[in-house]
Amino acid sequence: MRNQLVTQLQSKGISDTAVLEAIRQIPRHLFLNSSFEDFAYQDKAFPIGAGQTISHPYTVAFQSQVLQVQKEHKVLEIGTGSGYQTAVLCKLGAKVYSVERQNELFKATSLLLPKLGIRPKHLSFGDGYKGLPQHAPFDRIIVTAGAPSIPQALMAQLKIGGRLVIPVGEKEQVMTLLIRKNETQFEKHELGEFKFVPLLENKN
Ligand code: SAH
Repeated sequence: MRNQLVTQLQSKGISDTAVLEAIRQIPRHLFLNSSFEDFAYQDKAFPIGAGQTISHPYTVAFQSQVLQVQKEHKVLEIGTGSGYQTAVLCKLGAKVYSVERQNELFKATSLLLPKLGIRPKHLSFGDGYKGLPQHAPFDRIIVTAGAPSIPQALMAQLKIGGRLVIPVGEKEQVMTLLIRKNETQFEKHELGEFKFVPLLENKN
């Protein structure tokens, strides 16, 4: 079933062989509630608890491809959720730092990933709008929830030459890639429309 999913992703335009290989290897059905198990290799989003969803495999593949992760890159992920995207980044050889604001998901995913032999560098419970200044700068930053605008803190935590991929918008989002040119300048690319759950700000 995973091979079929990979073929489907290729037909939708995913060509990065490392990304496709990661998807071929990662047991997505173990990131979902068992009632969705039979559908895990369809290109669909599913509920993961706390009102959140696991992203479509195409979305995960697309963001991972755009990121151009290399081995040993320090990658910051905002929105750990089920941990599936985290697992893809780990398979690509990145040192992954991931932040989640729903405690229920943070706890469940912190237990799940090591059971599957997947070891991100750091999982944290908190507000991803702030990034992780204590671990910055990052080679790559990926946001997996829809942001009304690009958080300044995340731009500040990106290395020069680094790439930040983030869906921007309220109801629908435009996948946006920022490449940091120097201290003050970022090159911006808009890469099509997607639909994400919102990136929420903490109330306190
Ligand atoms: N990559 C995840 C996507 C989950 S959906 C997966 O495929 O499973 C997006 C996630 O972003 C949700 O878990 C949501 O709780 C989280 N999120 C939303 N706003 C956030 C914030 N400000 N900081 C950290 N995580 C946030």
